[in-house]
Amino acid sequence: MSARILDGNVVAQQIRDELRPAVAAFTQRTGRPPGLGLVLVGEDPASQVYVRNKLRSGEEVGFHVDLHRLPAATTLDELRALVARLNASPAHDGILVQSPLPDAMGPDAERVIFDDIAPAKDVDGFSPTNVGLLVQNRARLQACTPAGVMELLDRAGLTVSGQRAVVIGRSDIVGKPMAMMLMHRHATVTICHSRTRDLPAVAASADILVAAIGRPWMVTPDFVKPGATVIDVGMNRFSDAAAIEAAYPADSPRRAQFAKSGSLLVGDVHPAVAGVAGALTPVPGGVGPLTIAMLMRNTLRAAEALAAR
Ligand code: NDP
Repeated sequence: MSARILDGNVVAQQIRDELRPAVAAFTQRTGRPPGLGLVLVGEDPASQVYVRNKLRSGEEVGFHVDLHRLPAATTLDELRALVARLNASPAHDGILVQSPLPDAMGPDAERVIFDDIAPAKDVDGFSPTNVGLLVQNRARLQACTPAGVMELLDRAGLTVSGQRAVVIGRSDIVGKPMAMMLMHRHATVTICHSRTRDLPAVAASADILVAAIGRPWMVTPDFVKPGATVIDVGMNRFSDAAAIEAAYPADSPRRAQFAKSGSLLVGDVHPAVAGVAGALTPVPGGVGPLTIAMLMRNTLRAAEALAAR
């Protein structure tokens, strides 16, 4: 058996295609496009790619997107001042400060900044107000990655209600909101983490297994009930030549890619899981594109809500 592959690029494109006319209608109605302010502090290479993709996607659906690039030496106070300006700006409906922030800003910097962003413009869905609304199942702006997973499940026609779901990972940005969203859709949810005992057995009880761990290929076939839906949120740079050679046949394009670049972008789920799962998201091209599509949807929602005030 080989799992059905849930193609995130296709679904993300569908969502952008649906958003474009709604964005055009907003722009015509209000005389300005929805505005998204992106903030990137420092030179983290992965963050630069993410921000570039967000910028491109936003422009593609018709937003006004501006990117505020700040040097790594920016102080927390300077960043807070920029967020305050964006909070007050009538041209900005959404604000996204790319994480991680530089270590020099201090261990609490992200929390301080997420607390500062006006909840009405918090298109990442990380502010305490929006997290609280999510817990009460009435959030308008929800965390993008788990919202994207729900969208992928729905558009693939996969049932959530009544299913047993296991989420591995309990971060504020993925694991916890993921578990909430699955629970609100009537799945029976178990949350696992680094102290979970007998993790493979718990995972193998899942009809829907979500891996949001950040450990390359940790989820092996023994974690997976035959026929289960497996959602791989992980994005890891991986350069273990022996593991890559063992996982892919010599003529695989992934092997060629590894030979060329010396590393691969891989998920938390081992490729061999495709032989056990009923449906599986690839990495890259699974959850990642949906995260950005949900950011676009949140920005339009924020713009519409602000315009209606
Ligand atoms: P965090 O590091 O914040 O959280 C990881 C979670 O995994 C923690 O809850 C941790 O447990 C748990 N964990 C770590 N090791 C183990 C283990 N050996 N066994 C069981 N649980 C373990 O990561 P994020 O939630 O921010 O991200 C997770 C992954 O998703 C990363 O690869 C990240 O790059 C990716 N990601 C992808 C996105 C996308 O758009 N596709 C968006 C956001 C993230 P504990 O709490 O006990 O430490």
